[in-house]
Amino acid sequence: MDIKPITKQGNKLTFLLKDSNPAFANTLRRIMISEVPTMAIKRVTFVKNNSALFDEVLAHRLGMLPIITDLSSYVQSDKCSCKGAGCAKCQLIITLKAEGPLTVYASDLKFQDPKIKAIYAKMPLVKLLKGQELEFEAVATLGTGKEHAKFSSCLAHYRGYPKINVDKVKNPEEVVKSCPTNVFELKGKQPVVVNLEACILCMGCVDAADPKGSVTVESSEKDFIFTIESWEKLSPEEILSKALDILDEKLDEFILQVSK
Ligand SMILES: [Zn+2]
Repeated sequence: MDIKPITKQGNKLTFLLKDSNPAFANTLRRIMISEVPTMAIKRVTFVKNNSALFDEVLAHRLGMLPIITDLSSYVQSDKCSCKGAGCAKCQLIITLKAEGPLTVYASDLKFQDPKIKAIYAKMPLVKLLKGQELEFEAVATLGTGKEHAKFSSCLAHYRGYPKINVDKVKNPEEVVKSCPTNVFELKGKQPVVVNLEACILCMGCVDAADPKGSVTVESSEKDFIFTIESWEKLSPEEILSKALDILDEKLDEFILQVSK
């Protein structure tokens, strides 16, 4: 098995997973989406809220708010030494006190830990009119996408590495145009593959080609183009490395069970 980076653009990492198999690629994908822990607001206690949004609606908005995750300083409540009672290792307190007229933004939240903050500072939470007040205390914890989508760390997907074969095409221009990701260029009188890794296996070129079968596209069952689009709570590299740690733990646990 081998890994080779293809592109990294902001929070999106694409890499080539070579000499593997669909079972492993899918295991990795599922762990990244649903088992890598991230931080999100779990509970909100309202002291005052006479804004236009009900407590429940505002609490839901707060839950979906992306906040920076520090996996080196925090642990999941069920794995914490406090046994779920709640302590500084497994909980982060966030408070807010505001009075209208104003718009409350994510950047107005006061985090107990100065290292943690909302990722999108200018995300509006609620608009307060004159005389309206909002005061609450929220608790953020680590959780997983399995528990609630708000804890999911990323969108992860893969496709088999494409293999494209072009042979005696009568309508080369249409084949070149049919590709939404510009895989082909017209060189001489035939479409030539110039950007193979951009192929998304849509089969547009196969359908456009005249005669039928003059362009074929196959996808590999052992090499995969893997993409991780992080929600910016963790970097794509952190998500990948944490997913591998989790897989490792699962296998250790399995070995332990087998040896019993
Ligand atoms: Zn604790």
